[in-house]
Amino acid sequence: MILFDRVFAGNDETYARAAAGIDAAIEKYGPDMAVSFPSTAYCIPCYYAVTGVKVTNLGELKEALANVKTMMTRNKRLHDVFMSGIASALCAEFIEVLKYLDGAEPYADPIQGHFTDAQIRELGVPLVTGDIPGVAVIIGKAPTAEDAVALVKSYQSQGIFVTLTGECIDQVLEAGMKIGFNVRVSALGHEMCTAAHVVSVALRAALIFGNIEPGDLEGLKKYTMDRVFAFVNAFAPLTNEVVSYGGGAIAYGFPVVTNDTEIERVPKSLICQTDVSKFNATSLEARDIKLKITTIDIPVAFASAFEGEIIRKKDMQVEFDGSRVDCFELVQTKEASEIEDHKIEVIGPEVDEMPVGSKQQIGYIVEVAGKNMQSDFESVFERKFHSYINCIEGVMHTGQRDMIRVRISKDSYEAGFRIKHIGEVLYAKIKSDFDAVVDKCQVKIVTDPALASEMRHNLAIPAFDKRDERLKTLTDESVPVYYSCILCQAFSPSHVCVVTPERLGLCGAVSWLDAKATNELEPNGPCQIITKERVIDENLGLYEDVNEAVAKYSQGALEQVTLYSIMQDPMTSCGCFECICGIEPFSNGVIIANREYAGMTPLGMTFPELASMTGGGVQTPGFMGHGKHFIASKKFMKAEGGIQRIVWMPKDLKDTVAERVNETAKELYGIDNFCDMIGDETIAEDPETLLEFLTEKGHPALGLEPMM
Ligand code: SF4
Ligand code: ZN
Repeated sequence: MILFDRVFAGNDETYARAAAGIDAAIEKYGPDMAVSFPSTAYCIPCYYAVTGVKVTNLGELKEALANVKTMMTRNKRLHDVFMSGIASALCAEFIEVLKYLDGAEPYADPIQGHFTDAQIRELGVPLVTGDIPGVAVIIGKAPTAEDAVALVKSYQSQGIFVTLTGECIDQVLEAGMKIGFNVRVSALGHEMCTAAHVVSVALRAALIFGNIEPGDLEGLKKYTMDRVFAFVNAFAPLTNEVVSYGGGAIAYGFPVVTNDTEIERVPKSLICQTDVSKFNATSLEARDIKLKITTIDIPVAFASAFEGEIIRKKDMQVEFDGSRVDCFELVQTKEASEIEDHKIEVIGPEVDEMPVGSKQQIGYIVEVAGKNMQSDFESVFERKFHSYINCIEGVMHTGQRDMIRVRISKDSYEAGFRIKHIGEVLYAKIKSDFDAVVDKCQVKIVTDPALASEMRHNLAIPAFDKRDERLKTLTDESVPVYYSCILCQAFSPSHVCVVTPERLGLCGAVSWLDAKATNELEPNGPCQIITKERVIDENLGLYEDVNEAVAKYSQGALEQVTLYSIMQDPMTSCGCFECICGIEPFSNGVIIANREYAGMTPLGMTFPELASMTGGGVQTPGFMGHGKHFIASKKFMKAEGGIQRIVWMPKDLKDTVAERVNETAKELYGIDNFCDMIGDETIAEDPETLLEFLTEKGHPALGLEPMM
């Protein structure tokens, strides 16, 4: 059968299954039964993205299917094959959404099924930085389990996000591989139609980050083609169903690589590679994916995929725990003559001499020298340690400064990983990431308990204190310039963050010092100097020079941006914001929800729904994405009265920021324990109860001028 006929036949199959499924569901539940994927603001995301129609119940789903039928034209033109493929993927999405009817949870760990909006937003930063350089969609059964594991690991070690559909899931699980969203290998499900979940990720990325208008299919296809670096690896034998999904994948710009020799090839799009061990190389070439590679001499893998890996107590060889014993991590600037480049020293016992499962002390000092090195960069480097050490397979790192915790797994220990390798990783990453300012680098790791304690008290803590003093002096008024960050333009073409000392980037990952360091390292890179000499309105944070910069870096999409207002020309949002705040009209205040919060807010919207109100680099007065650390800033909504407008936050978030928020409230408004006046989900999830609570507490927002 030729390719056209196979795509059409596969499309007919999936269409028939979707139709039968919908009819059966209507029979059982009636046409008014609600239908949606969980934790998304886009109901049935692929269908919504392609058509602009939000389906809410089974009756509408049936109408939607009739609409899909109109996309299934059967002329033997390439265009029809692609449309037919897109239609197949939509039918697959319908089949999948039916599984979630009536609150059902069709998939259990380690099977992922549907991705939440929050998960997609979480991928924003690693995608723009290139830490996740692409997405591999693996479908079917590999020739052998070893082939499956080798292929998945090859992508994982490159940082590529992997999804698995079909029998390859069992192949990697049986081989003992750990999979899950946290290690960037997500099993979608055993049925081929579960591949729709990764299509949903790509299309939602276009809506969330790209500000693509739902229903603009051409815009959608262009976005996925230009900006979503996905590709498909489909194992032989290909069924007509898989071939038809392949047609859809190609329509979105995702090449398909297969070892099925029966299939008709399409240059650059449908590629036959009989040697499965070459799938990786063939795919990267076909999708034109460039990798950031740092070779590090350690006995285990090093990749961003391992950043979210969790090591449980029973799996750990040894642990260093700064909350119990003296530990620290520190960067220090030295003279070039004091440093022997690439010297890694372990002072004290190695892991071999530590009892299994024990708690130990550790302190590591990375000493750097360079003509362009500034002491302000020390904290910038230091904060990267978390990600560097976490990227080691089988090593987990949390915290910073002297409150770190590091675990080394038994598996990694058995593979030969030792403490000295932490030094290798820190050395290699600092030298490669900061090559423009670091000429020489050496690492000292102290595990000798007495010495580690001594150094924590006499070296590390005084250094941290000195830095805190310096940070306190960094205010928007005290610095001569701000910085732009346009890293997220890879996904949000007109988005610009203006980063100031008191307002970090909305992703939470870029502080003013980070931006300053990035500018130094890459003078033509994403962070450019923005002068702040021509003030228009100090209270709004409105400057002629900032406006000019924003207009320039957004290619004219933005004309005016205020730094301190949520109502008047607020800063844009890309999509990867840690938090979103929005106006709560009854109390005259704002509520804030963070990405981790899964519940309801008093605005009657969940985080994904709130988040969908803004993004894609557009300004939306009344809604604003921001970083967690911005909440306690004296510049948070300064134009509208500042943090005393905050009336509600999820409890976890409130607990995290309470100390600093209380401090700011005391200093600016003389309010004690301000956080006790702020509602959370344990107090109210609706505006009436919230208002009662605020009234009882005498919350200051109630007495402020209306915002609208
Ligand atoms: Fe993206 Fe802004 Fe963060 Fe830069 S600072 S990475 S543009 S969110
Ligand atoms: Zn972003």
